[in-house]
Amino acid sequence: DRNDKPTTAESGYYFLQSPTVETARPHSNLQIPAKTQNDQPIDILKIRKDFPILSQKVNGKQLVYLDNGASSQKPQQVIDAIANYYKEINANVHRGVHTLSQLATDAFEAARAKIQQHINAKESYEVILTSGTTHSINIVANGFSNMLKVGDEILISALEHHSNIVPWQMLCERTGATLKVIPMNLDGELLMAEFDSLLNPNTKIVAVNHVSNALGTINPIRYIIAEAHKGGAAVLIDGAQSVAHIKPDMQELDCDFYTFSAHKICGPTGTGVLFGKEEWLNKLLPFQGGGEMIKEVTFEKTTYADLPYKFEAGTPNIAGVVGFGAAIDYLNEVGMDAIAQQEEEILKYATAELLKIPELKIWGTAQEKVSVISFNVGNLHPYDIGTILDNSGIAVRTGHHCAQPIMNFCKIPGTVRASFSFYNTIEEVDLLVKAILKAQKMLS
Ligand code: PMP
Repeated sequence: DRNDKPTTAESGYYFLQSPTVETARPHSNLQIPAKTQNDQPIDILKIRKDFPILSQKVNGKQLVYLDNGASSQKPQQVIDAIANYYKEINANVHRGVHTLSQLATDAFEAARAKIQQHINAKESYEVILTSGTTHSINIVANGFSNMLKVGDEILISALEHHSNIVPWQMLCERTGATLKVIPMNLDGELLMAEFDSLLNPNTKIVAVNHVSNALGTINPIRYIIAEAHKGGAAVLIDGAQSVAHIKPDMQELDCDFYTFSAHKICGPTGTGVLFGKEEWLNKLLPFQGGGEMIKEVTFEKTTYADLPYKFEAGTPNIAGVVGFGAAIDYLNEVGMDAIAQQEEEILKYATAELLKIPELKIWGTAQEKVSVISFNVGNLHPYDIGTILDNSGIAVRTGHHCAQPIMNFCKIPGTVRASFSFYNTIEEVDLLVKAILKAQKMLS
């Protein structure tokens, strides 16, 4: 076990060039400057060559991968970083004096430092490495177990993924606190006047997503954070769907917690982040007990390690974290502004083309949204459309997208969701439209 805080030493095991520093987008909306100093428009064909899977055929057809909201594809640079870690420096971290263990520790902590820099967290120990967003939210919800009582309120929104609903319901069951919900409208926007009236001195936690996975809405989190703070509530932002599109700045946003998963931003599965402000992380109970998270253990009493290790019990996903660092480097090399610009163009084009399809209805028409389009075609079942698209090599998601309350509100069983990444092309949108028209013909 290690009790000291990680260094931000540059001595890590890098497989890529050091990242270019990007200007953070000033607001969580899609008003993107035409071109910023660090950003050239994306050379998509060059970028696509970085992703081996994109040249695959599926069901005899060229793969068109439009399920990026569920998980993104991985560039060769990330795959190499993971393979090289296992080939060259594999060992457990934080434990040994031997060389490989130190190299592994350096690589692991270098990735933490890259993530810290990417999200502009004040301290590297405010970046807790977890198995993903779900784990991160559960750490926070569990951590509040001894801080809430009957009469206290937790405020979430109607747009949440199940992983930002269920942990809070479980916390309410444990503590007697009450769960309240900010309602939405049929455009997929939160009703902010209702938010204002739901906030009250009993509100102890506000937990909302930055971007809705089901509809693509970008929520007004700056306002939510500022208003919730006036009454002293802690604010958790679920960034699972935003980080692929928007570079979040922890110091500027001023949220208390921010969570995301590496696999949605070109990194591997099984690793993610809980950002937490130091003062809040110090107050939370640890989630899991075990090795790495202790200062001293006797049978009578255990004292916990300092941040971040208090929340990192057991052997972490070291190779995954190294791959996570490589994914951050990759995104910065492409440029987050360039990514946003490319995705905005594809969103505009895809929206216009899809709306030409008779009886196609888009769910999620918020003013501010990312490149996610949820839709239904007449009364056709989303699964049937998804299956026919798959036969054409097109991967989309169908169903409730782990957001059943949204589907209930819209009175639909589910949607077809096409979620676009910076490596998707206009030609792929055309193939999607063609395949939907074919499905419509076959199913009607
Ligand atoms: N929140 C949102 C908004 C999501 O889209 C997802 C993933 N679909 C999660 C949380 C959970 O992320 P993970 O499965 O990586 O833990």
